[in-house]
Amino acid sequence: MRLLVIEDDRSIAEPLRTGLTREGFEVHLVGTGEEALAAPPADLVLLDLGLPDLDGRVVCRELRARSQVPIIVVTARGEEIDRVTLLELGADDYVVKPFGFRELVARIRAVLRRSTQDQIAQPAPTGNTSIEVGELSIDRRTRKVTLAGLPVTLTPKEFDLLAYLAADPGTVHTRDQIISDVWDENWWGPTKTLDVHIASLRKKVGPAAIETIRGVGFTVPDQPPTP
Ligand code: CA
Repeated sequence: MRLLVIEDDRSIAEPLRTGLTREGFEVHLVGTGEEALAAPPADLVLLDLGLPDLDGRVVCRELRARSQVPIIVVTARGEEIDRVTLLELGADDYVVKPFGFRELVARIRAVLRRSTQDQIAQPAPTGNTSIEVGELSIDRRTRKVTLAGLPVTLTPKEFDLLAYLAADPGTVHTRDQIISDVWDENWWGPTKTLDVHIASLRKKVGPAAIETIRGVGFTVPDQPPTP
């Protein structure tokens, strides 16, 4: 497993590299946002938001726009970053400095496990992996989405949520169902999380693609009107 560690504080970065290498990870350490964006692909990114050159949030968004690599964000204590913001950045989890090394390794392994499970949960390539709803096309094998033939960039969770809802158009899924099926029970802030993802999905695939059923949950209507 290759980890890209983006940390400018050498007093943290060096022991982190030593410890993570001892845990069996291959560590690629960089100290700036520019270097992070130029780094080769990794299996997981550990990103300190306080970088000397670029805003860590910009780096996070940029990495997320390029790939679905799991990202754990590191924030300083008291830094005004809430969970909703982290989700908007496309981060998978976060740790607050100072963090314990054991805790960090546990988080890394949990995030890697989740992303591997997501991949295993995809249907076999030979099956019918494509979902078509109106102008929306969702390919579960390649995890690519197009709207009226144009590619749409989604975060991994946005994709999971859309694929889940669109798998059975017209079916109403309750909030509880969605949270337990799309997120795992270890996820934090479930209610708000779901709304944030629904809102960002609507911005990307059109407001009519996902219908709110008041007091119940959400559905992807059979034939959403052209946005
Ligand atoms: Ca820093």
